[in-house]
Amino acid sequence: MTMIRYLDIQRMSSEDGPGLRTTLFFKGCSLACAWCHNPESIAKKFQIHWLSSRCIGCGSCEGVCPNGALLRGESGVLIDRRLCTGCRACVSACPALALECKGTDAEPDVLCRELIKDKAYFGRDGGVTLSGGEALLQEGAVELLRLLKAEGIQTAVDTCGMVFSEQLEAALPYTDVLLYDLKLMNDADHQRWTGRSNSLILRNLGTAARWAKGNGRLWIRTPVIPGATDSEENIRAIGERIQAIGGAERWELCAFNNLCIDKYRRLDIDWAFQNSPLITRRHMEQLLAVARSTRACEDIRATGALGNEE
Ligand code: SF4
Ligand code: SF4
Repeated sequence: MTMIRYLDIQRMSSEDGPGLRTTLFFKGCSLACAWCHNPESIAKKFQIHWLSSRCIGCGSCEGVCPNGALLRGESGVLIDRRLCTGCRACVSACPALALECKGTDAEPDVLCRELIKDKAYFGRDGGVTLSGGEALLQEGAVELLRLLKAEGIQTAVDTCGMVFSEQLEAALPYTDVLLYDLKLMNDADHQRWTGRSNSLILRNLGTAARWAKGNGRLWIRTPVIPGATDSEENIRAIGERIQAIGGAERWELCAFNNLCIDKYRRLDIDWAFQNSPLITRRHMEQLLAVARSTRACEDIRATGALGNEE
């Protein structure tokens, strides 16, 4: 039985494609971007979070771990992530809901029924978005898209593009809007910041553009990350590539934010961007001017919160 491992379902989202949407975040990604806003979606394995603000220090979780992965010390509960198998024994033992397991498995038809509960607010342009992590890594994504289309739901897929071409091609017939990330054109920079080369991503972009010139809607998204993707040179190179392939309806420059800092703390990860400032309005306007000068597509816009000048 094909199962989907997902992280979360977010309802009433206005940031994951056209209109109001319900977004399913898959668990597991083929990239590991240093700035990732959903760090708990990178690994496919289950992950335990300890929420210090809820912990009442009762000690009920002590001794329940069959793998010796959970320790209580002076600074609170520590999880040895190499030993943890995600069995959830500690989650069940905690009376204060201070331990959460990130990751749930469900069959595509079960998820489809859950997602279409929100049909009433989708309206003409809204629908369901599969996001992540990387949705297309999981076989169940295509089946879920097929089921959603059979229910008359408008579907969007948010992809990093780092998937086998067959996985992308299998999903496109059931996809109305493709949100395609283009982060860095320089391959060495791409490897440095995401852990992988961009060559497959750029090849798949060609497939996405051909599909868009048929009857699909292609939105390109570039995260604008201080010191990583926010150079004029990078934005110009991305714009020129979008212009050359054609077919894109929109290009979004998505401003960096640091709202995810607590997620990194709960995963015991020192986040390289924890002290990075927001992109200033002036800097974003400069990048938008560069982007528009490339004539990449009709609709080029900035999204996300911006910082004050300087
Ligand atoms: S989920 Fe299971 S293996 Fe992981 S820390 Fe909790 S009890 Fe141990
Ligand atoms: S069982 Fe829950 S509330 Fe009690 S010490 Fe462990 S994490 Fe804290």
